[in-house]
Amino acid sequence: MSAAETLTRPATAPRPEHFDVLVVGAGISGVGAAYHLGRQCPEKSYVVLETEASFGGTWWTHRYPGIRSDSDLHTFGYRFKPWRGAPIATAEEILRYMGEVIDENDLARHIRYHHRIHHAAWDSQAKLWTIQALDQASGEERRFTCNFLYMCQGYYRHRQGYLPEWPGMADYQGRIVHSEEWPEDLQYEDKRVLVIGSGATAATIIPAMAAKAQHVTMLQRSPTYFRAGRNAIEIAEELRALGIDEEWIHEITRRKILFEQDKFTRMTFSHPERVKQELLGVVRSYLGPDYDVEKHFTPSYRPWRQRIAFIPDGDLFQGIASGKASVVTDEIERFTPRGVLTKGGQELEADIVVAATGFHLNVLGDIAFEIDGKPLDFHETVTYRGMMFTGIPNMVWVFGYFRASWTLRADLVGDFVCRLLKHMDAKGVRQVEVALRPEDRDMPILPWIDPENFNPGYLMRGMHLLPKRGDKPEWQHNQDYWAEKDEFPKTSLDDAAFVYR
Ligand SMILES: Cc1cc2nc3c(=O)[nH]c(=O)nc-3n(C[C@H](O)[C@H](O)[C@H](O)COP(=O)(O)OP(=O)(O)OC[C@H]3O[C@@H](n4cnc5c(N)ncnc54)[C@H](O)[C@@H]3O)c2cc1C
Repeated sequence: MSAAETLTRPATAPRPEHFDVLVVGAGISGVGAAYHLGRQCPEKSYVVLETEASFGGTWWTHRYPGIRSDSDLHTFGYRFKPWRGAPIATAEEILRYMGEVIDENDLARHIRYHHRIHHAAWDSQAKLWTIQALDQASGEERRFTCNFLYMCQGYYRHRQGYLPEWPGMADYQGRIVHSEEWPEDLQYEDKRVLVIGSGATAATIIPAMAAKAQHVTMLQRSPTYFRAGRNAIEIAEELRALGIDEEWIHEITRRKILFEQDKFTRMTFSHPERVKQELLGVVRSYLGPDYDVEKHFTPSYRPWRQRIAFIPDGDLFQGIASGKASVVTDEIERFTPRGVLTKGGQELEADIVVAATGFHLNVLGDIAFEIDGKPLDFHETVTYRGMMFTGIPNMVWVFGYFRASWTLRADLVGDFVCRLLKHMDAKGVRQVEVALRPEDRDMPILPWIDPENFNPGYLMRGMHLLPKRGDKPEWQHNQDYWAEKDEFPKTSLDDAAFVYR
């Protein structure tokens, strides 16, 4: 249905509910968005629509054993709410923290659960978005209008993981489970488990399952970098022992972590070999001199081309060292009735195969978008700082960092959105969009990310769905928190890139 049709429905159709701002999703970004709107734009009405039955997004929908963060919660937590626990946190702890943010700031009354948005149409005459959502609790269609759309839908499709098709899968007599679709009834005590994958999810599942399973084998096509160490931040512990206020501890610890991460990231570009050897040295310290670290834990790419997960207390490596878990680095030839046959000719027998094989990229929440009756092709747009897009009015999305915690960017975007909304009010306008300026006309238009810089599988598989970028900082999502934290607040909203109506 086009925007015009939506707005001229027969009088019998219930009138849409109107809000100044509509937030899509109640994950860590959407709850943060609600907080920032409430604090910085208290005069704006807003609603958060969420498909699921509760808040949390990633931390609500993922149910695999051991589910935890892979970056520290001092920076994955919001800048405005101190994190008091160990830096690497379980999903349950993160949900509790988010629940406190909702309670302490009276956000619950703004969130509607079970609302799956499937259609969004912009009408340039009315300067409004019309949003259609299915209320999954009642089965009824709901319509909303809003002036501004704040997209906090994350980047992958929840509850439907990416599972490659391998020959012989139908013949396998055990159970195949995807990490994103964990069955509540899965019993794995004393079972032989084969985990396919080498990323943070595999690294979490393996030690968690190894505690009860007979044996867990990790089958990886190629190795990944990990960091490992004690699940504690010394400075936070010291300050706490001194009785320092938690708000101070949060701020100081964040600054220390961010300072060190910045140093580390720069080192991966300036001295990649040194960083690589340091990372591998930690792995060796857990696995001992006889373990083939070269084969199983030495990636062929330079550190930071893919996200580096932190392994608390090196539990993955401890599991391997204890003999409860093992690693096979080889490719899958096919499934057999008993397990998996590798290209190297090894049959890995298993009662359960866990596919930790990644995501389906989900741009814009699987919502069909229209601008003045014309379907939106997101791939044809160019991004402004990874949050606005040429030709899409009154919309910002939150796409966080990969080399730093996601939420650092969600907070920065929150400030930006509120500043932009106030700026529009001050100018007396109701529409803003970004457009290439005359000086940008000859700028090369490139894919969303540079694979030389960052190249995880789900982004590579989904590049044709993502917007494009230019070669100037303002027309890119540059993954650099340390630059953006200073640039965002200073961005001139009267720059010619912003077109107001
Ligand atoms: C297992 C796992 C561990 C991770 N660990 C870390 C980590 O330690 N550190 C880090 O920085 N990042 C991590 N990430 C990345 C992580 O996804 C983000 O950091 C962050 O949680 C994303 O939050 P979000 O709110 O933007 O999106 P999500 O958590 O994906 O939440 C989006 C919400 O929007 C809702 N939604 C989507 N589409 C619609 C629609 N059409 N209508 C209504 N609602 C909709 C979804 O139901 C969901 O609740 C991890 C990811 C995974 C999968």
